[in-house]
Amino acid sequence: MNGRSVLIVGAGITGVASAEWLCRDGWQVTLIDPVQPGSPDQASYGNAGLLSRTSVVPVATPSLVRHAPAMVFDPSSPLFLRWSYLPRMIPWLLPFLRNANEAKIRQIAPALSAMTFDANEQHLALARGTEAERHIANGDYVTLYTKKSDYDSDLLTQEMRRKFGSVPSELTRAELVERDPNLGPAYTFGTLYQGCAWLTSPGRYVAALFDHFLRHGGQYRQAKAVDIQPGEMPKLTLEGGETLTADKVVLSSGAWSVRLAKRMGAPVKLEAERGYHVAMHSPSFNAPYPYMVTDAKFVATPMDGFLRAAGVVEFAGLDAPASEAPVRLIEKAVKRLYPTLEFDRSESWMGRRPTTPDSLPALGENPKAPNVLHAYGGQHVGLTIGPKLGRLVADIAAGRRANMDLAPYRPDRF
Ligand SMILES: Cc1cc2nc3c(=O)[nH]c(=O)nc-3n(C[C@H](O)[C@H](O)[C@H](O)COP(=O)(O)OP(=O)(O)OC[C@H]3O[C@@H](n4cnc5c(N)ncnc54)[C@H](O)[C@@H]3O)c2cc1C
Repeated sequence: MNGRSVLIVGAGITGVASAEWLCRDGWQVTLIDPVQPGSPDQASYGNAGLLSRTSVVPVATPSLVRHAPAMVFDPSSPLFLRWSYLPRMIPWLLPFLRNANEAKIRQIAPALSAMTFDANEQHLALARGTEAERHIANGDYVTLYTKKSDYDSDLLTQEMRRKFGSVPSELTRAELVERDPNLGPAYTFGTLYQGCAWLTSPGRYVAALFDHFLRHGGQYRQAKAVDIQPGEMPKLTLEGGETLTADKVVLSSGAWSVRLAKRMGAPVKLEAERGYHVAMHSPSFNAPYPYMVTDAKFVATPMDGFLRAAGVVEFAGLDAPASEAPVRLIEKAVKRLYPTLEFDRSESWMGRRPTTPDSLPALGENPKAPNVLHAYGGQHVGLTIGPKLGRLVADIAAGRRANMDLAPYRPDRF
């Protein structure tokens, strides 16, 4: 026991992983969140469950920027925008657009790869020996295309993946169908990555890690933090007025981190990149492994008793209620993927990906308040990198030198 205390604001995968690693280091850890870890209010609950070690290309690409203006006007495209929200996202959108070029992608990819490449091992290191471990599945991961030319033309992604160790095998339509006879006729080409992993219930996984943390001395306060006052012993004000204090505070409240960071005067650029899922329970068959369905921009993952189709992007801010159109789009896309699929019931969900303009997380001490650590910004791979972020938070809190360069993730880089 090192006798030092830490308050963690936000208990999604990033907060719970940070809590567990800090606890293992001997800190007195209190997790603070108005919702129970693993609940549907968190992005960590409803994602596609993929531990995506092949993800090395940032969200902002020249192709996205070229197609986005047409996509937001096309109701059948997987990009949605609430027009009234557009003016408010401009401070994030401008630097995002400035990153959408080949030179920036080449610069960002090594730092993204450094976060994702060992995702399987990081999840195992966190979950081994806990109930969470049984929610980790191992197998292949297949990217589906309607035309091979879509894959062939994305040379930069192929080059970046190869450079950082992900070399897929190519699958013809016949090979795809041999592996999965239920696959719809629209998909004529695929790429297969071996040695992948996914979670069969991301919500239960987070909840199981949280249980483990509680059983080993961790504390939880079901409360919302409304202010952080930096200092030698930073103070946290909870809704209702109560104040807590500790040696360190970790800000890991996902897409909501922007609010507390702004109150501290930290110039954070973070957008809630909203996504949706449709979960089909007791399906007549399930996918043999996760599919990235490239034309509809969602991942179909076989989970514990259901098939989950999760993806698409909507910009509408943190607080706007969920929309119907993305759900209808996913349902239609699932019919294209699996025309003969039947199921007992389905449910839909919306969550908020915490996305920075350069797709890299914000990780490290707040330069003006070193006892406050930032840990958020996992965007489309926040589940993948959560355990690693947690481990690095513990390194930083202990003043231990990490085995990687943390400069690209500085929270004040914007
Ligand atoms: C449709 C979809 C599919 C996805 N698929 C994948 C995937 O396959 N693989 C992958 O790696 N990633 C995926 N992601 C991304 C991933 O889910 C997120 O990046 C990740 O879950 C973020 O985790 P987090 O802990 O930072 O935030 P969250 O899980 O959102 O947790 C943040 C927590 O902070 C709490 N909080 C907020 N404000 C306060 C406050 N003031 N005080 C206290 N607590 C507060 C919230 O209540 C919440 O519990 C997907 C996301 C979506 C939406």
